[in-house]
This record gives sequence, structure tokens and C-alpha cells, in this order.
Amino acid sequence: MLIATFEHAIYNSIGTVTDSDVMPQALHEILQWTSENHILCHWVPHRKVLIFPDPISDKMLNQLLAFGIKNLIETNSPYPLIQRDLLFAAAPLTIGDIVFQPGTFTLIAGPCSVESRSMIHETAAFLSELGIPILRGGTYKARTSPYHFQGYGHDALNDMRTAASQFGMKMLTEVVSEELVEPISEVSDILQVGSRNAQNFQLLKRIGIQPKPVVIKRGFMNTLEEFLLAAEYIALMGNHQILLCERGIRTFEPWTRNTLDISAIPLMQQQSYLPVIVDPSHAAGRTDLVLPLVKAALAVGAQGAMIEVHPNPSAALSDGKQTLDFNQFTELVREIEHTAKRLGIHLQHLEKNDLGLLMQL
Ligand code: PEP
Ligand code: MN
Repeated sequence: MLIATFEHAIYNSIGTVTDSDVMPQALHEILQWTSENHILCHWVPHRKVLIFPDPISDKMLNQLLAFGIKNLIETNSPYPLIQRDLLFAAAPLTIGDIVFQPGTFTLIAGPCSVESRSMIHETAAFLSELGIPILRGGTYKARTSPYHFQGYGHDALNDMRTAASQFGMKMLTEVVSEELVEPISEVSDILQVGSRNAQNFQLLKRIGIQPKPVVIKRGFMNTLEEFLLAAEYIALMGNHQILLCERGIRTFEPWTRNTLDISAIPLMQQQSYLPVIVDPSHAAGRTDLVLPLVKAALAVGAQGAMIEVHPNPSAALSDGKQTLDFNQFTELVREIEHTAKRLGIHLQHLEKNDLGLLMQL
């Protein structure tokens, strides 16, 4: 794979190029020339690079240089746009005032599904009181069985937006299909690609052209390389605000719903500059393992955890067995605060100011 840049500067020092309207003059000619010569070529506007996946001849290389290309970088990386230490520095991913960077840990919590206006309101009120900055909740659900609860859709989306805004929280919900990307992107602060859709490439491409940050979950049957390639799809389409979420993979072990792959966290961090978070709820499928798995994730350097919480898990319309009630979650937060402190990791909180208003720190 060959990467062409239009600048002499080393891209690591540039990070994100914000002025994506500035197209290098030669670009149009290059794209025309590559198409006429049947050379596969991707222009990545937000990074101002051209990617040539296939080898190209010396003659063609000279032609490229003649078009005004300044740097040619050869790489064996299958995912150059998210590869650590290749083109781009690990610029911290910020969502509002929440910064995902090494040494920080962010809790994301909420119900598996948004079940009513009052329950999401009650949950957001409780979580914000504990300082949780991001509210998760399923609005359109991707369920294995067509007979299982599919989510309250549009109404749930609006109820969740109202609840998150009222308590100063950011909102995260899953997008299950291409046609839902735009309506959900208009409402939600963060979009999620679920495990069952982790290799839905059309969905990944569509998500890559909307501006909101994306949590992509690892497909439960995906290798780490497949997972990183899924993230590369999003990056290639223009969105590099991506969080990788390890949520457990299918193994032969029946005592847990999935097996949380702890080694995936340092491995992905070796490979990519993208922040890595974990979902111990879907990994374990049971409440008693949620806290130990979050502690393990903290200890190996994950930058956050997403946890299912519900006012009354035994009555939940989905995933009640793995969902913590308010007491269990309060206990978890206390424990995680201690563990984070001992490890010297900053737990990102919503805090109340002197007027009792919530504000993000
Ligand atoms: C979810 O987060 O609600 C969910 C369905 O998770 P996963 O895609 O990891 O199963
Ligand atoms: Mn769930």
C-alpha cells in the first residue's frame, strides 16, 4: 500500500486537517489520471492523503510526483488511517468536555433499551447524580430473534434526547441500518455500531460520512484484524472520531454469554491510536462479573467502560440478566473510583457547580 501526501510536513505533527475544503490543485487531475489508468486510489479529504492499495510501477510513481505529490509512504499496514505511529498522532478524542486519552477512564451507562419516557428520565437522573457523563440506551434494537423486543424506535430516541439534555449528559445509541444513520446522527451525540453489524460494510461507510463520534463494537466472531479493518472503513469515509469497544467474543465457555478478550485491549492499543473501551455487560451476560471485568479493563489501560443499568432489571424488556440495578451500580462506581485512584487514572465525571447545576469537567 502506498500513501501519498501533498505536504512536506510529517503528518504526525499535523493530526487532523480541519480545512477539508482545501483540495490540492493537482487532485482533480490525479483522480482523473488514476481512473483512466485503472489504478485504485482513495482520496481521504479530512487527512489530505491519497491511498493506493495496489503496487504501482516506477513509471506511474514518477507521474504521481510530477503531479505535485510531496511524500510517498510505503506501508504494509492493512489499516493505515488508524495505524499507530504511521501517519497520524493519537490526538485525544473529545466529546463535549469528555476527553478520551491515556490515563483517563469514562463510564458510559444506561439501559439496554429505552423502555419509556419515565424510565429513561429516572435512569438519567440517577446516573447524572453519580457523575456519569454519557447515557447509553437502545432505541432501535438489533436482536438475534425477530420475536424479541425490537426497541421503541423514534419515540425512544426523542425521550432519550430529552432525558440526556435535561441532566447534562451526552447520549449514545445504536444505529442498526443505513437509513437510520441520518435521523439518529441528527439527535444523538454518539452513534454505536453493534456487534451484529460490525461487518455491515455499507452501514460502516454510511456512518463514516456523518460527523458524530462512533463507538464500534467488535463483532462477536471477529478477529482483531477484522475489527480494526471495520474501523478503517469508517475512517476512510471521513470520520476518525472512533472508539473501539471490546464486548466479548463467542467461545466454547457456557458460563458466560461471551468471553471478554482482555488481551484485545493492549493489542489494539499497540496497533491503533484509537481509544479502546470495554462492555463487560454484554461480555459476561451476568451481573456478578461486571465489576471485576471493569477493574481488569482499568488495569490494562482501557479508556472507558459501557455498563447496562436499569431501575428494575428483573422487569427489563431486554438483557435484564446482565443489567445492574441502581444499588449495584452505585457500589460499582464507588469501587471503580477507588481502583482508579490507586492506579493514578482520572475518572471523568459530571460535577455539580455551586448553583447545583451539572457541568462537565
Ligand atoms: C448493545 O449495546 O445494546 C448491544 C446490543 O450490544 P452488542 O452489539 O455488543 O451485542
Ligand atoms: Mn443489551
